[in-house]
Amino acid sequence: MKLNIIVLAKQVPDTRNVGEEAMNSDGTVNRAALPAIFNPEDLNALELALQLKENNPGSRITILTMGPHRAADILRQGLYRGADAGVLLTDRAFAGADTLATSYALAAAIRKIGEFDIVLCGRQAIDGDTAQVGPQVARQLGLPQVTYTRKIIELKEGKMLVERSIENGIELVEAPLPLLLTVDATADACRPANAYRLLRFHRAAIPTEQATEGFRYAEQLAADTELQLKEWSLTDVDGDATRCGLSGSPTKVRKVENVVFQAKESKRYSASDEDIKALVSELLANHTIG
Ligand SMILES: Cc1cc2nc3c(=O)[nH]c(=O)nc-3n(C[C@H](O)[C@H](O)[C@H](O)COP(=O)(O)OP(=O)(O)OC[C@H]3O[C@@H](n4cnc5c(N)ncnc54)[C@H](O)[C@@H]3O)c2cc1C
Repeated sequence: MKLNIIVLAKQVPDTRNVGEEAMNSDGTVNRAALPAIFNPEDLNALELALQLKENNPGSRITILTMGPHRAADILRQGLYRGADAGVLLTDRAFAGADTLATSYALAAAIRKIGEFDIVLCGRQAIDGDTAQVGPQVARQLGLPQVTYTRKIIELKEGKMLVERSIENGIELVEAPLPLLLTVDATADACRPANAYRLLRFHRAAIPTEQATEGFRYAEQLAADTELQLKEWSLTDVDGDATRCGLSGSPTKVRKVENVVFQAKESKRYSASDEDIKALVSELLANHTIG
């Protein structure tokens, strides 16, 4: 069975290595101080897509991201690993989007891509951390969804059998296609970039990059359509401006506060049995444990 697979991938600041300069004084993230990376769980989602493609020859993977022009980089990273096409959704009208407006825009782009069987996305992004976008996209497209996916077991007669992580175990779920899966970090890690594909696809570019002075691969792009990454605006996806960006975002951030924990008192315990017993009794007494 040939599948049309869409992977939602977000470019995020690498919040795993946050240093002092990573925060602005107003409590917002200083994105310039952190390297921009492929959201980790979106790589797990891409790996499941690549496995589906291998098991279903003739299948096609499109990576879709919404972000600024520099996010085209993660489309290339997807191509290096085996994706077939990339779409960047970018427009000033999308700026300031909360999760509802983000999922509206992504759903509009998925409709424009057209036929699809499976949408795969990460469980959550390491910067926003809400885990809302996947379920909201499913809702906007009227798709069934399976969250916390860790493995695809079987695809048969228009249905997919999926293993999902739950607290203290796993659950087997069957769902009809087309469907959306959110994938968590317990799924297989993504394969590295393929050297041949890296040499070919590092030339892939969105129209804005092609128009920059000094762009060196115009001839190669003209000869090889697979190097042409798509760049879509609000108008391209027939989006409603009132449902995008700030105007489409019911979430309002009233205040951002830096919370610094300060120890008011400290106690020292030795590693002796006596001290450890005293510590445990104290923690039990004040209900920190137990
Ligand atoms: C009032 C408000 C204003 C905001 N303004 C801005 C702003 O100006 N600029 C800004 O960068 N952020 C802004 N944000 C944050 C923005 O809403 C979130 O980054 C975005 O909606 C995704 O949510 P999340 O990071 O929690 O993703 P999650 O819900 O945790 O992500 C789940 C999965 O959805 C997919 N996904 C999520 N986002 C994208 C994407 N953009 N492209 C493709 N796939 C995606 C990925 O597969 C991801 O793993 C704002 C948030 C609020 C509440």
